[in-house]
Amino acid sequence: MRKKIVAGNWKMNNDIAETEMFLVDLKKQVFPENIVIMIAPPFTSLNHAFNSLREHPVTVAGQNMHQSNEGAFTGEISAKMLKSIGANTVILGHSERRAYFMEDNATLAEKVNTALENEMTIIFCIGEELEDRKNGKHFELIKTQLTEGIFHVSDESWQNIIIAYEPVWAIGTGETASPEQAQEMHKFIRKTIAENYSKEIADKVSILYGGSVKPDNAAEIFEQTDVDGGLIGGASLKVESFMKIINAFK
Ligand code: PEP
Repeated sequence: MRKKIVAGNWKMNNDIAETEMFLVDLKKQVFPENIVIMIAPPFTSLNHAFNSLREHPVTVAGQNMHQSNEGAFTGEISAKMLKSIGANTVILGHSERRAYFMEDNATLAEKVNTALENEMTIIFCIGEELEDRKNGKHFELIKTQLTEGIFHVSDESWQNIIIAYEPVWAIGTGETASPEQAQEMHKFIRKTIAENYSKEIADKVSILYGGSVKPDNAAEIFEQTDVDGGLIGGASLKVESFMKIINAFK
């Protein structure tokens, strides 16, 4: 039985006052028991969110971390720092990190190692650009991101890895992959993991879809066989829409 997960990626949104407003509202909600709920606030709100949600079934995750454990890396945050404030989960390889902060597969492989060494859970994001899809290169691209970014980890490490398939052309654009496109790629990702590891491991990995998931399209995406949840950007910023997406997951 794979974990069903809905994770909210706040990106660079919500200062501490806005975070508090969100949390007050979130804590009034009734959460379905079979779904793991996560939020990834910006670093400045992480500690507050973790402390505020101690009694609630919501995991607080970091949006990124540096590949080194410590040192002269002005402006960066380490795995140990995240863990020290209760964030045991981290998003790695988000397409915005890849595109705007030049994070390539080799750097991400290092980040993956550091996160695993620090016993963290990783949400590892992969996804193709529109150009790749138009050229029929999307499967190849996804395979390369997996091979170079994460396929060096041990069999055991997969217990702590969640994959998020996020086609870049669908992030923040209002354009979602169709349920069929999502299922086709999720099935391919699972098959690729099975070929490189085993069917047993692949069958246990949760693969989330991300890219303009909204309350009105969440259900049809989540009902696909190989879709185990969502990584939600814009629609996770308001408790009302975030909860509607969570509740769309039956
Ligand atoms: C994301 O940032 O991971 C994302 C999927 O964003 P959005 O839902 O806004 O497309």
